[in-house]
Amino acid sequence: SQSPSSKRRVILKLSGEALREIGSTDNISPEIVDRMANEVKEAMGSGKVELGIVVGGGNFWRGAAASARGMDRATADYVGMLATVMNALALQGALEHKGVPCVVQSAIEMKNVAETFIRRKAVRHLSEGRVVIFAAGTGSPFFSTDTTAALRASEMSANVVLKATMVDGVYDSDPKKNPDAKRFDRVTFRECITRQFQVMDSTAFSLCMDNHIPIVIFDLQKPGNVAAALMGAEIGTIVDG
Ligand code: UDP
Repeated sequence: SQSPSSKRRVILKLSGEALREIGSTDNISPEIVDRMANEVKEAMGSGKVELGIVVGGGNFWRGAAASARGMDRATADYVGMLATVMNALALQGALEHKGVPCVVQSAIEMKNVAETFIRRKAVRHLSEGRVVIFAAGTGSPFFSTDTTAALRASEMSANVVLKATMVDGVYDSDPKKNPDAKRFDRVTFRECITRQFQVMDSTAFSLCMDNHIPIVIFDLQKPGNVAAALMGAEIGTIVDG
């Protein structure tokens, strides 16, 4: 059910790459995790948001890439889902250290380190002000953590999905390869899907479209952006319609 308070319920998607220092061999940078936690703390302190975080695992492993090199896809995807649990624990530790109440719910049962994902419990945590970190993706292979964010947002009746990523919005071609790439302030789901924009997978776009949940895609590398986005600042590209 919709959050009964006037708070905005948000699902933040953090890619695994966001937690790695560029050029470092460490998969997780404690300093970056700490910075993310500070931004989350700032936003939670505003009293305006209820927050679920879906973490990716791409800083450790991507199932599709391993599968392209000969590994069984489903097995590779389970490895990827377990990778997201490591990121979730790191983030939880940093948030708890700063006094931000927080739980990890894993879609793959891992009782010793995390709660198991139970939708109604997650909703309750959110409405009582705890940050819920959703680990292990959907629990099923052949999906992504982007799709997980869309799914959890739908299940939690979230108001918005915020995708914090390495680009500052949606472009009509890869801005890293094409200097003439056009950036959108606002774009429809349909356009993202039909033109196959790569910033998010089509399953995630269509799930959010069907459930009328807008997605904001923004640059997490700029300090302050995550906190600003969580508090409703208009940054990045809004996908809706
Ligand atoms: N994964 C999966 N099912 C899910 C979510 C993730 O199988 O529901 C696996 C998949 O192999 C994926 C990996 O976990 O490549 C890491 O997630 P993702 O690539 O979405 O992480 P990100 O790119 O956001 O860091």
